Amino acid sequence: TASVADWIKDRIKPEQIEKYLDDGRCFIDAEAIERALDANRKPDPKRVRDIVQKSLAIETLTPEETACLIHVDDPELLAEMRQAAQAVKIKVYDNRIVTFAPLYLGNLCVNNCAYCGFRSSNGSEHRRVLTLDEVRREIEVLAGQIGHKRLIVVYGEHPATDVQYIASTLQAIADVKVKTRRGWGQIRRCNVNAAPMSVEELAMLNEVGIGTFQVFQETYHRPTYERLHPQNTIKGNYLWRLYAMHRAMEAGIDDVGIAPLLGLYDWRFEVMALLYHAIELEAKFGIGPHTISFPRIEPAHNTPLTQNPGYAVGDEEFKKLVTVIRLAVPYTGMILTAREDAQLRREVLPLGCTQTDASSRIGIGGYADLIDGDQQGDRQQFLLGDTRSLDTVVRELAEAGCITSFCTAGYRCGRTGQKIMGLLRSGKEGQFCKLNAVITFREWLDDFGSPETIAVGEKVIAQEIEQVREKMPEIFDQFMRYYEKTQAGDRDLYF
Ligand code: SAM
Ligand code: SF4
Repeated sequence: TASVADWIKDRIKPEQIEKYLDDGRCFIDAEAIERALDANRKPDPKRVRDIVQKSLAIETLTPEETACLIHVDDPELLAEMRQAAQAVKIKVYDNRIVTFAPLYLGNLCVNNCAYCGFRSSNGSEHRRVLTLDEVRREIEVLAGQIGHKRLIVVYGEHPATDVQYIASTLQAIADVKVKTRRGWGQIRRCNVNAAPMSVEELAMLNEVGIGTFQVFQETYHRPTYERLHPQNTIKGNYLWRLYAMHRAMEAGIDDVGIAPLLGLYDWRFEVMALLYHAIELEAKFGIGPHTISFPRIEPAHNTPLTQNPGYAVGDEEFKKLVTVIRLAVPYTGMILTAREDAQLRREVLPLGCTQTDASSRIGIGGYADLIDGDQQGDRQQFLLGDTRSLDTVVRELAEAGCITSFCTAGYRCGRTGQKIMGLLRSGKEGQFCKLNAVITFREWLDDFGSPETIAVGEKVIAQEIEQVREKMPEIFDQFMRYYEKTQAGDRDLYF
């Protein structure tokens, strides 16, 4: 319709791209990436070990160093890299894993990305945008029955889900409080995955309250990007997307999440480009990406490209690239999603991941409508590999000695952006996080845990409490007061 056409016409603001270009050039130099990859094809073991030491000191690697790790094939060296990846994660984030759920609010989209079930040319997709009441119903299930505290809210690019819609849904989500078994539940952090926006729009979202802003570049390889995203669509503009996070930072959103969509182009190139993106953000704004994701392309309804995306990443390569990202950008959060199946998730989480989703439903209205867990291909963007419940995932993590943290305090106390990066690099964020992880885990177990999960979870809690007593004696008494209050039904206590 005319109004959709008008809306599309004004989306891209060329002046908000040009101001960041360097002599007209962007920060992805494909030739430099290829040169670095070529020059490091035969990595020397001694050099690899030196590079790994640098990661262990929580220093961002250079492109040359990253290219070197990318080419390691020796099983022994790879095993050392995996061990180091795990050690880096423990050093920065301890044994904590953060969980979240994806929430899709609409599948209308003006773009036509070749790999996505929501693309405009997919006539067999059932289209729907949730009303605010329907959004509230989703939150009642998420925060009242499953027990999530964090979401990634996902939107197509369309005037029906424009920035006003995003802002009002974020507000509606924050306002829902639901009674639980022993207390009450609420979504306390809303991350957003949406199309690139202008500085003005992003400032509006920052004002309402947004957690991490995620935009996946899909592919950093420009010719491939331009082939998969029709040039007469908004998404067809490579640079508008590439500089989305610069605009977010300019608008005051200092937690940003980046990713390639794996399968569209050579993963080695994409990992190098991710690193350049991280380095660019660090250089221009003093803050790297808050999170990096590494989604692999999944089958999508009526979307042939997803059956054979061209550069499909195998499981072994996937594990290697996760390891390399962990070592290359040691401070960043790393998100492994339920796109991957349960077994692979067990293997990949210990390679340095910090966040994962569970009980995920990605159909529009999927939580209120589909509690039994069925997937409905024609209502969702792609198919998930793992639909296990949050309770099952929490229990499995606890059995592996990990504590699921439902903490969202850092962000609400202003520990974001540069502040959190400093704290993470120095290992100090760990102190607050450890205390808050225990308190929020207790809260979750009491409100939502099954008897089996409570039993395993309490063993982890007992160990954590001992560590707090040993390592933070000055704060131990206050910590225990918060812990006991939480057991008595108080909610949302944090340091
Ligand atoms: N429409 C917005 C955009 O494209 O930026 C945000 C939402 S889009 C639904 C979120 C992400 O899903 C995309 O950036 C893309 O990386 C990913 N995605 C799309 N199709 C996929 C598929 N078939 N399998 C896995 N991930 C996919
Ligand atoms: Fe639309 Fe995003 Fe899907 Fe592309 S990936 S068709 S922009 S929802």
